Amino acid sequence: MLKRLFISFLLILLLSMTIVYGESVIGYTNISNICINENSSYSSKVVDTLKINTPVQILEENNEWCKIQTEEGKIGWIEKYFLNLPANKYVINNTNYKINIRKGPSTIYGSVGQLLPNEKLKYIDTYHSWHIIQYNGNQYYIASWLTDIISEGTKKIYLLYNNINIREDISLNSTIIGKGNKYDSFYVYGEKNGWLKIKLNDGQFGFIASWLTSYDINYYFEGNNGYKRTTTDLNLRIDPSHKGKQVATISKNSNLKIISSENGWDKVITENGQIGWCNNGYLISILPLSNKKILLDPGHGGYDPGSISYSGKYEKNVNLDVAYKLKENLEALGATVYMTRTNDTYIRNSARGRMADNLGVDILLSIHHNSLGNNKSDYFGLSTYYNTINYKNPRYGYDLAESIYLNATTLNGVYRDGIFDRNYEVLRETNTPAALIEIGFMSNPQEEMNVHSDSFQYEIVQKISDGIIDYFR
Ligand SMILES: [Zn+2]
Repeated sequence: MLKRLFISFLLILLLSMTIVYGESVIGYTNISNICINENSSYSSKVVDTLKINTPVQILEENNEWCKIQTEEGKIGWIEKYFLNLPANKYVINNTNYKINIRKGPSTIYGSVGQLLPNEKLKYIDTYHSWHIIQYNGNQYYIASWLTDIISEGTKKIYLLYNNINIREDISLNSTIIGKGNKYDSFYVYGEKNGWLKIKLNDGQFGFIASWLTSYDINYYFEGNNGYKRTTTDLNLRIDPSHKGKQVATISKNSNLKIISSENGWDKVITENGQIGWCNNGYLISILPLSNKKILLDPGHGGYDPGSISYSGKYEKNVNLDVAYKLKENLEALGATVYMTRTNDTYIRNSARGRMADNLGVDILLSIHHNSLGNNKSDYFGLSTYYNTINYKNPRYGYDLAESIYLNATTLNGVYRDGIFDRNYEVLRETNTPAALIEIGFMSNPQEEMNVHSDSFQYEIVQKISDGIIDYFR
């Protein structure tokens, strides 16, 4: 009895615990277009709305909620379930000499200081193959190829699927030393080339493909419970009950994203980003891309191989593999999908752009894999492109490029390379909103291997699909 009392006392203590952070902890939103509230309640005033994958500083953690500050300085609360909170990571100099800390992600930028061998700095993110680090209270850049990312083994990752291989080294060809299943968790000790260094139960270290993991059991981990439409005007409430305080009224025929379900109630997010519970007797299931027509363009083909990878593989083939997987995924979401080529044939880029206009599709997405030549094999990352010439509304291409980029870079092990305005023929020679994606660098031996794996392709096409759904929302 005493023991039970003590345990309940401990539980109460734990539940009411507020964690206030001294040093800056960065989290990322894991759902599109989400409101932040003035207090830790959905019935409180909306302070701001954030896109998916927006970095926020965590100021305080209280039960299921986090107090956050946006990059614009706005402060509010967000449910922890909608944040990814990666491990605290550090960048360590792995060379025997001093390396420069720079103002930007290139050697053309001036140096503000140097990192000595084996010294470390707090890691923030990776952009353009440069690590963003904290130095003297500011954010600067350091070359990723001269450094390693390490963490202290204080944060766990969870596996997204069953039967995942744990390997001896960072390679899909390396010896399998263990297996893991969904919900299994391991402490993280480092990160390299899209792989995580984890500690197994027997104390030895292993490596796991990070695109098959999540840092938290949250919306990113459990995600996607489909979409529904209201059949009448409906109240959105803070609890799954008619007695729950009202958050908002949703009008008939509104589209909702379903987060979870309980006793005839659905927890939903509205198109305005408000979250609450709806009586699901008044909701019908819908496919988010029904009535949408999409043209997918697997880049290159025929006598044009595109990039030739570090190990000699042709870009035109991997582009086609990914396009087929993406087509299947988008069709399951209700879209009608066309392809500029379905086999190894050459088509001029201008003809691909005009095909979109002739078919009357809603969007065109061109699929590519990047390369800088094997003498620049250190570069990696995912980028998207748009073109501002020829469009009635130049924002169209940008919005598509941005929503795909933000969703795709939520995948662990996919690094940010940027969103760029480029005069590419396939994007220019069309009146259809169009974007191009470079999924990874074929000239980087590690990324070449990752992008050719079935499991990576399966994950990335889901994220691209989420980006396309966001664009239409
Ligand atoms: Zn290409």
